Amino acid sequence: MTERVLRLAAIGGDGIGPEVVAATLPVLAAAVEGGGGTLVVSDLDWGGERYLRTGEVAPADAPDIVRNFDAVLFGAVGRYDVPDDIPVWDLVIRLRQGLQLAVNVRPVHAFPGVPSPVRDVEGVDFVVVRENTEGEYAGIGGRAHGGTGAEIAVEVAVHSAAAIRRVAGYAFQEARRRSAPLVAVSKSNAMRHGYALWDQVVAEVAAGFPDVAWERVFVDAMAARMIERPRSLGVVLASNLFGDILSDLGAVLGGGLGMAPSANICADGSGVGLFEPVHGSAPDIAGSGAANPLGCVLSGAMLLDHTGFAAAAARVRDAVAVTVADLTARTPDIGGRATTAQVAARLLDAVTARRRPARSERDSVGRPGLTAREAGTRAGMTQTPDAEDQPDRATTVGETGGLPGRNAAPEASQLSEDEMADTVSGAGPAGGTAADEPESSTAGNG
Ligand code: ATP
Repeated sequence: MTERVLRLAAIGGDGIGPEVVAATLPVLAAAVEGGGGTLVVSDLDWGGERYLRTGEVAPADAPDIVRNFDAVLFGAVGRYDVPDDIPVWDLVIRLRQGLQLAVNVRPVHAFPGVPSPVRDVEGVDFVVVRENTEGEYAGIGGRAHGGTGAEIAVEVAVHSAAAIRRVAGYAFQEARRRSAPLVAVSKSNAMRHGYALWDQVVAEVAAGFPDVAWERVFVDAMAARMIERPRSLGVVLASNLFGDILSDLGAVLGGGLGMAPSANICADGSGVGLFEPVHGSAPDIAGSGAANPLGCVLSGAMLLDHTGFAAAAARVRDAVAVTVADLTARTPDIGGRATTAQVAARLLDAVTARRRPARSERDSVGRPGLTAREAGTRAGMTQTPDAEDQPDRATTVGETGGLPGRNAAPEASQLSEDEMADTVSGAGPAGGTAADEPESSTAGNG
């Protein structure tokens, strides 16, 4: 059996970002190792701290640097002493646009027993598919007449048929894969140009999917429906702005921002994806050990799916299901008293159920304040120098035989029967098994 290597760029970022990434990496490493693979992590110091030190959040060629990896795991950016828009534009949006990550997939799943402010969420399981490169976040506009008391600002929303077609195609495929209905979110009654184009292109794409039931719902009605009838949803297709807002609302159904994962990917599954929890840097709880790492861990499961490690992804989701079912392993945001490190240790126990690491190793994993590199090293992961130190990285990655998941054999088929049995032994709704999971699914998380 050829050993498979997954090369990851890890960007912890700011606030709780490094804490949740540090908690996630050992879990991913153990899950990959469980299938005979190896996780190789490079820790990139991009974010607000770097900005204060060097004047830049990330190198100008950040997209080119991460292209040398199989995927990016990203925590969060944003801190009180750096203007909000700088890390968002110079890192997050630069990567999304530079890598052409046209689709943002944000699954909403209510784990049994996880409290939500919304009364009846049992069985809620849908995915928001959000356009990721344009719309109201295109960055086109300007301000004039500053200081006159009559200042004006113009923010131009850009909607292209190409981008709508791209994201709608992905969403309808996803609805077909899930055998679920699709809701296309619009506001063409009030915004008669951009969203009229959305309606038109979505209808054209829908014509190619006669097996998918779909309807158009205006965004205001959609907000109400997500609370009143969340179980009626399967796939929610939305523009950049609407998808951003609705997916935070969705996160609340699933127990809060700390539980919500996301994937930024190319519509056709090619290229390098960026996987991040839906939450931001939450500076109010940074360093306190209260950060829930599960949104980041579930983002890691999406990453594994996307890179062809479907069995490892199933192991991670099973571990999350086992962990949230353990009331002693819940962080305060979902009604528990556990710390990030305790949740990380529980996850690692669950994912390595048959190959328990030494006690000292488990205790050291995911402690708040550890960098991704430290956590990875302590968990026995192979480390490489930062990408910026490695101008020839592309050659190295190329030698792995291309990006798994897009062109590699499915991991499950490489497992022994014994390993398969181990893989399917996990409990819970995140379930699915190595054998029955689609190999390159990017959604349907947890
Ligand atoms: P952004 O605009 O960058 O998305 P935000 O302003 O929406 O950020 P977040 O940082 O996402 O804010 O967090 C909002 C609040 O939710 C935080 O103040 C924190 O209390 C809570 N929160 C977010 N993420 C988590 C988490 N992983 N665990 C626990 N609580 C969290």
